[in-house]
Amino acid sequence: MAISPAVRQDLEKQLGKWASALDEVQLQWASGYLAGVAAARLDNLAPAEHAVHGEAAAPTLTIWYGSETGNGRGVAQRLAADAQARGFSVELASTADIKPRSIAKLDTLLLVMSTHGEGDPPEDAEALHKLVLSDRAPRLDNLKFAVFALGDSSYPDFCQTGRELDSRLEALGATRLMERVDVDVDFESAEDAWRPSLLEKVETVLKPGQAAPTGPHLQLIRDAESAVQRIDRRNPYDAEVLEISPLTVAPSTSPVHHVELLLEGSGLEWQPGDSLGLWPRNDARLVDEIIEVSGIDAEARVERGAETLEAREWLARRLELTQLVRPFLQAWAAAADSADLRALIDDPDRLAEWTAARQVIDVLHDFPARVDAATLVDMLRGISPRLYSIASSPLVADDEIHLTVKRVGGRDSRDRLRAGVASWQLTESVSPGDTLPVYVETNPRFRLPEDTDAPAIMIGPGTGVAPLRAFVQHRQALGASGANWLFFGARNRRTDFLYQLEWQRFRREGALDRLSVAFSRDQAERIYVQHRLRERGRDVFDWLERGAHVYVCGDGKRMAADVHQALADVIAEQGGRTPEQAAEYLDAMQQAKRYQKDVY
Ligand code: NAP
Repeated sequence: MAISPAVRQDLEKQLGKWASALDEVQLQWASGYLAGVAAARLDNLAPAEHAVHGEAAAPTLTIWYGSETGNGRGVAQRLAADAQARGFSVELASTADIKPRSIAKLDTLLLVMSTHGEGDPPEDAEALHKLVLSDRAPRLDNLKFAVFALGDSSYPDFCQTGRELDSRLEALGATRLMERVDVDVDFESAEDAWRPSLLEKVETVLKPGQAAPTGPHLQLIRDAESAVQRIDRRNPYDAEVLEISPLTVAPSTSPVHHVELLLEGSGLEWQPGDSLGLWPRNDARLVDEIIEVSGIDAEARVERGAETLEAREWLARRLELTQLVRPFLQAWAAAADSADLRALIDDPDRLAEWTAARQVIDVLHDFPARVDAATLVDMLRGISPRLYSIASSPLVADDEIHLTVKRVGGRDSRDRLRAGVASWQLTESVSPGDTLPVYVETNPRFRLPEDTDAPAIMIGPGTGVAPLRAFVQHRQALGASGANWLFFGARNRRTDFLYQLEWQRFRREGALDRLSVAFSRDQAERIYVQHRLRERGRDVFDWLERGAHVYVCGDGKRMAADVHQALADVIAEQGGRTPEQAAEYLDAMQQAKRYQKDVY
């Protein structure tokens, strides 16, 4: 049965529009569903039978993931691919796309769960977390489960969400297939060890099919997996640095640079809203200082996990030197036999304040000890990639990716480097022509409206404006008719107005309909983007009523909450609603994906 070129073209157009709104996991599911519908028509079977279970004979293994930055999603996808290779039929889903109560119907659940912020679930997993921890949670006596918990040991509530779900599932009657595994941001080797041992455990309770399934749905998951393996966090691409130029002028208190990288030939694809992951390299002088103070032999060859490198190379490329985490402090306190450091570790409030202002080298200076190279390499946490919001549209910058990078810290009064590893490298130590190991981290939760006519209100103070530059560029290139309104904030107009000339050009060209700026320190009292939102409340509400999508990017600690409150107040005042109704209005916008945040 052939399809005529005209019908195919029409189908491609319709499906392409529809598919652009889905992330890769939803696409994989959809492909399985459509294959099921087709098979059902041929066989006269109910479509759901094919669609839901794929291979009717193979037992189904459910894998759910809650992911904030994409790490959990990657772990779950790799697990799904391995499980399929062993013959299991796999249902892979984000916890954003499931009905939490459906957990009661599952036999076997493998849960990959990140913890976000101060021990909170990722946004996608909030509903599941809430149900499972509540009194309304169903009994789960028939469920077998295992939890892979991702976290960051620089936070006190390390892997909190994974821990809570793991113990609650057991309390609800479920049976653990394997002890929970808690991993830090350098999770690669723990993940590699966990996957096969978990699947061996699964095989003892769930018999896989005789042969690896080959249905289109399953094949697509494997294809996605091999695509992920081509260029990803584990296998980055060496992108050439094309340009680094300042966006701020002296005497700005926080220098910001525009960085352009070339990804030609990488095969990587990205959309506005996605981030670029960068594996940073530690500063050579800082590495020298650590070698000197710790007394290690820099040339000693050291094995850790599957890799053997010289100690200097471990310090330069593989280990975290700028962030202090409890496991390292505990190990160093033992090496230095320091009661003072132990006392500090046992005082969480003092510790948080102390570590915020210090790096590994400060611990080595303040609590002297001599260790050998292997001991030091073993003590330190593996370095993890830094994510930057992509500031350019692929329709405009083509094979280039632009970033907006604020330098964190710098050299102190004694000329010692106390800076963020990646921001220092990008703004101070790399030059055009150098290459940097990078990959793309997709972010399906921060996407332009599908409807190009829909207005957009974009709020991005400081470097939070980065993805909004990509949004405006993209909508202009698409010829989108929806109006754009940008709220930008910075300290001083003269020194910190990021991309000022570009916004002016976008205004002239009609790509930016409104620009509202808040320069916090150009006057005695602080003025922020939320003040501008309130001042323009009537128009803001009017835009919302006309279906505007709202985007907030930048600081997640205070700004995002303050902006949320300002939006709620505007809705209440301008829309004549109670605070509860205004909160419901924003909730409904969030549900409809009309209110999206990318904050940290
Ligand atoms: P910044 O320079 O520290 O601040 C930008 C402006 O916001 C300043 O005028 C600042 O005023 C003001 N501000 C301070 N507190 C505020 C509040 N509660 N509400 C509204 N405005 C407030 O900004 P930045 O460091 O470039 O970037 C901000 C943050 O965004 C960083 O933490 C960065 O990590 C994050 N970021 C996130 C993403 C992402 O999630 N994809 C992307 C880029 C950046 P004063 O300093 O005068 O008080």
